[in-house]
Amino acid sequence: MKIRTGLGYDVHALASGRQLWIGGVLIPHTLGLQGHSDADVLIHALCDALLGAANLRDIGFHFPDTASEFEGIDSKLLLARTMELVRSRGWELGNADITVCAERPKLNPHIPAMKAALARAMGADEEDISIKATTTEHLGFTGREEGISAYAVVLITKE
Ligand code: MG
Repeated sequence: MKIRTGLGYDVHALASGRQLWIGGVLIPHTLGLQGHSDADVLIHALCDALLGAANLRDIGFHFPDTASEFEGIDSKLLLARTMELVRSRGWELGNADITVCAERPKLNPHIPAMKAALARAMGADEEDISIKATTTEHLGFTGREEGISAYAVVLITKE
């Protein structure tokens, strides 16, 4: 069996008048993430980790933010398409481990719903998807609530 790992990282700015989508879940908050799609920072980091593990470039290569077809798109659709690409090369998800850095709002109560949403979009087992939330102790752009960042690591396998 072959195994590979991949790393993904993404950042989106917080802005008023936007919805806050993280991990495929709409989270009540006064600010949302700015972006061409729904700006789901967690899913974008996860897509990049999957594409990186399969050596399939990155999310911007497959889903350019200049393309009108991706404007306002639900990132769960991008994740589902990413899994199709990865599986088309014979790879299957081993596990994913994701960390989201946000000062506010509290994300922990939403993690079970996020895991369920990701598992559904990926056609994967919730048991193989870990999501963690942290603050940066008021330091840096996430600490100042200017934006939210996410890191993802995945392992993929091929028989
Ligand atoms: Mg992004």
